[in-house]
Amino acid sequence: MNERYSRQILFSEIGKEGQEKLLNSRVLLVGCGALGASHAEILARAGVGFLRIVDRDFVELTNLQRQTLYSEADARERLPKAIAARKRIREINSEIETEAIVADVNYSNIESLVKDCDLVLDGTDNFQIRYLINDACVKLNKIWIYGAAVSAYGATMTIMPQKTPCLRCIFEEMPSAGSAPTCDTAGVIQPIISSISAIQTTEALKILTGNTDRLHKSLIQIDVWNNDWRKIKLGKPNEDCETCARANFEFLDSETGEFSAVLCGRNAVQIAPPRATRINLPQLAERLESLGEVKQNEYLVRFTTGANELTIFADARAIIRGTDDIAVARSLYAKFVGS
Ligand SMILES: [Zn+2]
Repeated sequence: MNERYSRQILFSEIGKEGQEKLLNSRVLLVGCGALGASHAEILARAGVGFLRIVDRDFVELTNLQRQTLYSEADARERLPKAIAARKRIREINSEIETEAIVADVNYSNIESLVKDCDLVLDGTDNFQIRYLINDACVKLNKIWIYGAAVSAYGATMTIMPQKTPCLRCIFEEMPSAGSAPTCDTAGVIQPIISSISAIQTTEALKILTGNTDRLHKSLIQIDVWNNDWRKIKLGKPNEDCETCARANFEFLDSETGEFSAVLCGRNAVQIAPPRATRINLPQLAERLESLGEVKQNEYLVRFTTGANELTIFADARAIIRGTDDIAVARSLYAKFVGS
């Protein structure tokens, strides 16, 4: 084994054997914003052999304060986060494999993203998708690590299906939209990201090296500004839990799957087609050229019309800025992209 990992191998609980296990591990990172970028960097440096990074968004200037993998050039070029992350990770550790997927994670793809991975890390920013991850991981019996951070506050919990409470055992109902503060309404400072990510990735290292007896087995809540650290011990899974007791995986059900979503606090809506499809981006750009300002790269087309900006990805998804009204966004999508 090369000297790259020598200090980690010297750490006796990992050792040579643990390092081998890391190199043979496959991890799914759902979301590559602030938490996800930190997960990706730490696990890539640690030598996790395969990282699948899935993110639906592109890099913007407002991300740079906390999303440590990205540069000004990424924001200028509006690179999708998954692509920019892979580019940076290749510079950090060219010996591991990184797969970048620019997509919205939803009921139609979550199981295939999860099933050939050993572990799933939550780097998302909303509960809808966390319940989806929870359903898929409980169904497929994969460990996942919940993480959230906003303002100076964060929380994390490691979920081992059937052994520890799942997300739904703890939070039975999804918090209603708009009820919780978000990074876009309450802001966020970077140190809480690093703190939560540090706990999540340490748990990941323990799991992947077979040291599950060292897991913290708690819901950890931290407020780095008000100096408040809490560790709530978790008991057994809830015997009435819809997900892990009754195996009612309703978030994986297409009937309840949501395909358009208001991106909280961003004055933007995401529209996604109901079925998987690909769009010919150069053709679309050409078609839109006479109708407004068009910019494009290999991964997306950005089109400005009046007060609205449409960013259309190759998977036919669009993020529509300048409105938080789904009906308005849908009509803009139908008009310029097609229905
Ligand atoms: Zn449960």
